[in-house]
Amino acid sequence: MIDLHTHTTESDGSLSPAELVDRACAIGLEALAISDHDTLAGYDGALERARGAGLELIRAIEIGTRHPEPGKPRGQSVHVLGYFLTRAPSPILLEWLAGIQAARRDRNSRLAARLRELGLDVRLEEVEALGRRLTGRPHFARVLVGKGYAATVEDAFSLYLNESAKAYVPKVEPLAADAIAHLREGGALPVVAHPFRLAEGNPQREREMIAAFCDAGLGGLEAWHSDHSPADADRFLALARQFDLAVTGGSDFHGEAKAGVQLGTGRNGNLAVPRAALDRMRERAARL
Ligand code: AMP
Ligand code: FE
Ligand code: FE
Ligand code: ZN
Repeated sequence: MIDLHTHTTESDGSLSPAELVDRACAIGLEALAISDHDTLAGYDGALERARGAGLELIRAIEIGTRHPEPGKPRGQSVHVLGYFLTRAPSPILLEWLAGIQAARRDRNSRLAARLRELGLDVRLEEVEALGRRLTGRPHFARVLVGKGYAATVEDAFSLYLNESAKAYVPKVEPLAADAIAHLREGGALPVVAHPFRLAEGNPQREREMIAAFCDAGLGGLEAWHSDHSPADADRFLALARQFDLAVTGGSDFHGEAKAGVQLGTGRNGNLAVPRAALDRMRERAARL
């Protein structure tokens, strides 16, 4: 069993990189990718622990991007994963990531201001105190719950933080095609995360988007994911074959920050990513 999509306290997960490695070893994972949002820091914090335990650790990252979509002024949200980055990340890639992190900080300060405008006592500093290196909406949600403005993290999202909720403040995000190209130039295998979200199952639109991403240099599709049905997985496995893409899979584990999702096995055991997928990803990455 392997898990190629996980988050730590370096982004919005609840386990530290070392704790995540310990959990992975405890459940017998053969390989683990740490794919925090917008940062590569989790890998560095986990590497020594993983080496000591004989766990194969893969460096990865997940970037929030947008793809132009008729009828959606802000475009379609697309999450792009980048795998391996075994060489030291290039200065160009690091600079690009710094820009993404700056856009996130800017969004966070506007989000805190928006919440105060709505009469809620929320200061950016107290949210950032929970967020370590990277602060995101999940940390805002925890503050809102802690102060009694929402009963649960889910409620905080639906009342205030979701794209359709009243405090929503957009973050400037790169175009999906540019993120794919940047990751690839930086030595990463670019993969579309949880692709069922691309077009809510509209097969024609999914195919068009994936074709556009292939033109930009896409290397793989995350066919197996905790939120994918068996039919989703089959559809993306078929698309990967047609477009000659690698297939990846992971739980999108966030620890307690995402209820119901277990490392390695997903939701109620709906995930079992085959080890062979990782070998094919590596072959594919070697051809980049
Ligand atoms: P951000 O990158 O700061 O905009 O926050 C996005 C993150 O919030 C995602 O990666 C999820 O971890 C989390 N998230 C998004 N929507 C929800 C939701 N409805 N409930 C709980 N967590 C969510
Ligand atoms: Fe997340
Ligand atoms: Fe994601
Ligand atoms: Zn994720």
